[in-house]
Amino acid sequence: VVNTDAYSLYFAKSLGYGKEFSLIPIAGNFYFSKQMLNGKVYTMQDKKLPFAAVHGDPDIHVSNKTRWGPTAKMSPVLESRNFSTTFDYFKSASLFRLATVKSFLVILSDMARFVFLLKNTLYDIPIVGKYFFVKNAQKIVPTIQARDLKKAKGFGGMRLQRVDTKTHELQLGEGKIIGDNIIFNMTPSPGASVCLFNGMRDAEKIMEFFGGVYQFDKCKMEDDFGGGCFDHDKKVISENAYVS
Ligand SMILES: Cc1cc2nc3c(=O)[nH]c(=O)nc-3n(C[C@H](O)[C@H](O)[C@H](O)COP(=O)(O)OP(=O)(O)OC[C@H]3O[C@@H](n4cnc5c(N)ncnc54)[C@H](O)[C@@H]3O)c2cc1C
Repeated sequence: VVNTDAYSLYFAKSLGYGKEFSLIPIAGNFYFSKQMLNGKVYTMQDKKLPFAAVHGDPDIHVSNKTRWGPTAKMSPVLESRNFSTTFDYFKSASLFRLATVKSFLVILSDMARFVFLLKNTLYDIPIVGKYFFVKNAQKIVPTIQARDLKKAKGFGGMRLQRVDTKTHELQLGEGKIIGDNIIFNMTPSPGASVCLFNGMRDAEKIMEFFGGVYQFDKCKMEDDFGGGCFDHDKKVISENAYVS
């Protein structure tokens, strides 16, 4: 099971899988304020935009602060702030295929997405970016002001959103390519929220790879993590599974 997030498609392509996929490279950055929330609060998700909506939440590494974001800025790399991964991005994204160019044009010419990316470019401008960004945070805490926000330096990362170049569609969330005894997991946001479910689906698939020699006790996993196993015959549906 290849769980290297942005690099999973790179490895898949190296082994001849997932040729129909490309990646739109979105860097996500954050702001910090003093603690204003006790838990994670999202603004409303726009269904046209496969990027998690701006939210405020605590950061496990920084106590007594609220983290706001992410912003979304195009950056052609596989790892944030690591420009040596640019070449690998070009390889993973198959940017020089006609189908990829057409898909990018279709996706980015959508007005809602274009305006979203344009606005987000403003959020990342040093010093003044927070004055544009604060409007998003005010949807959650109306009294928050730009002066309350500080750029979260060194935080954030890349969200490599998959593009299906056959349908020219941008795909939300995590997905997988299932090959011959191999699984490649691509895990942009909200990959963290679905990680246990993803692990469960992979365990079932691996049992298939072994041809029934081993058994996966799904109920035991649900007992341990999911608050109990209610239906012993339940089948897991792999909505996001792509067989290449
Ligand atoms: C800005 C931002 C906001 C996000 N917000 C949310 C959110 O609100 N909710 C949510 O659920 N998810 C969110 N996510 C997504 C979440 O962070 C990912 O889904 C999650 O981290 C994926 O976990 P992973 O283990 O699959 O991949 P990663 O955590 O990326 O781990 C992959 C690992 O593979 C390693 N690796 C890569 N190549 C190689 C190699 N060749 N050899 C060895 N190791 C290698 C990397 O170094 C890395 O450690 C967000 C992501 C970003 C960037």
